[in-house]
Amino acid sequence: MFNELYRILYDHYGDLKWWPSSSDDETVIGCILTQNTSWKNVEKSIINLKNNGLLNLNAIKNMDAEILKKYIMPSGFYNQKAVYLKNIADAVIDSYGTLDNMKNRDIKNISNFLKNIKGVGQETLDSIMLYALNYPVFVVDAYTKRFLKRYYNQNFTFDMIQNYALNDLKKDISMLKNLHAMIVELSKTYCKSTPQCSECFLRTGCKYHNSIKNSDR
Ligand code: SF4
Repeated sequence: MFNELYRILYDHYGDLKWWPSSSDDETVIGCILTQNTSWKNVEKSIINLKNNGLLNLNAIKNMDAEILKKYIMPSGFYNQKAVYLKNIADAVIDSYGTLDNMKNRDIKNISNFLKNIKGVGQETLDSIMLYALNYPVFVVDAYTKRFLKRYYNQNFTFDMIQNYALNDLKKDISMLKNLHAMIVELSKTYCKSTPQCSECFLRTGCKYHNSIKNSDR
């Protein structure tokens, strides 16, 4: 199911090379900052931290919370996000020292560890697991649910999407990373809240588009 979808999306998008970051620490910081805001706003905060040499978990752990709030202000909800960033920086450094030390371990243990950090919800957790720590999970966000419902004319649960993605892509980490990236890209350009079906390259195989087309006859 998803392997055929992957192929069609890949023919159009290729490798989008997600997550757009230069280190695992930056990925984790980005995963927290992107909650409830656009990536454009996150980028401004990332630049603020980078320009001051603070784009890593050690710096986040040790810096003054008020200064952190100032740097991440462009991402919105900065009081809350400063707490969340400090929570995850403290937890990772106190328990593992570095993100590298969290890789190649029992996936359930790492997932449970992250789940217990305040500020790490399901989507953030899966993004960190996949993009920063290279565990085979799939990120199921609102874009993914909306797109799959339209494309297959089927209501998928979170577990169904996870299972299809992991089985069909054979737990291939780079494919799991890229499938989510391609769905986000598609959802921002074509499969928006009002879908732009007439311009969409998926329209021939899309059940939603075909049902609209048939009802117009
Ligand atoms: S054809 Fe329309 S509904 Fe289907 S994926 Fe494209 S934009 Fe979404």
